[in-house]
Amino acid sequence: MHIKAKQLSKIYGEGEGEVIALNRVDLEIRQGDFISIMGPSGSGKSTLLHLLSGLDEPTSGQLTYDGKDIYRLTDRELSAFRRQKIGFIFQQFHLLPVLTARENMLMPVLLDRKKPDEEYMERIAGLLGIKERLSHLPHELSGGQQQRVAIARALMAKPEVIFGDEPTGNLDRRSGAEVMELLGEVHRTLGKTLVIITHDSGIASMASRRFSIVDGILQEVGR
Ligand code: ADP
Ligand code: MG
Repeated sequence: MHIKAKQLSKIYGEGEGEVIALNRVDLEIRQGDFISIMGPSGSGKSTLLHLLSGLDEPTSGQLTYDGKDIYRLTDRELSAFRRQKIGFIFQQFHLLPVLTARENMLMPVLLDRKKPDEEYMERIAGLLGIKERLSHLPHELSGGQQQRVAIARALMAKPEVIFGDEPTGNLDRRSGAEVMELLGEVHRTLGKTLVIITHDSGIASMASRRFSIVDGILQEVGR
């Protein structure tokens, strides 16, 4: 999957209250890239991730996945595309509290009316070290375990790219490091493309391509 953003801009509000959250961002992401993005609060990190993943639309600019302009899809096509091709991990985990870890993992597959691949599910649960936790409810799990379930859920539909918006932002240092180790493992063993926002320069340096964003302007800072 080749992702290409061309001159992506997002402007909120009008006139005096206008905020240029994202300013003409150009970015090419190749299959298997591990990208980190760092930047101060309010610099446009979440806005960029939402645009790249089709959660939101830009004010101007273009985004293609393998040459296909995804903002031209109908809402229905875009939802299906997102469910099948894109995994998203949030800072706040966003697990459904009344569902077990296993049920949370199965949600996206069931929403897509697919038959769950049990073998793959076992493999993912093993990779993320949550096999013994699958019948637990989110509140019975630590933050690190909840985030590992959220990563497992993001992987269940076998997406090609995973976006993480400060996935370790709610975790203590040690669980955060564990979660990042596992994401690195997901990148290496499953060959998934990773795009991760972080405040932690240690985490940023795990990536193969590092970017910084300031006032909505994105720059590559190293490989
Ligand atoms: P970050 O994730 O780097 O903290 P965001 O992408 O959330 O930054 O926000 C970038 C800028 O856009 C900020 O100035 C923020 O206040 C503004 N912004 C974000 N979302 C909205 C919105 N829905 N309406 C108005 N302004 C917004
Ligand atoms: Mg943010």
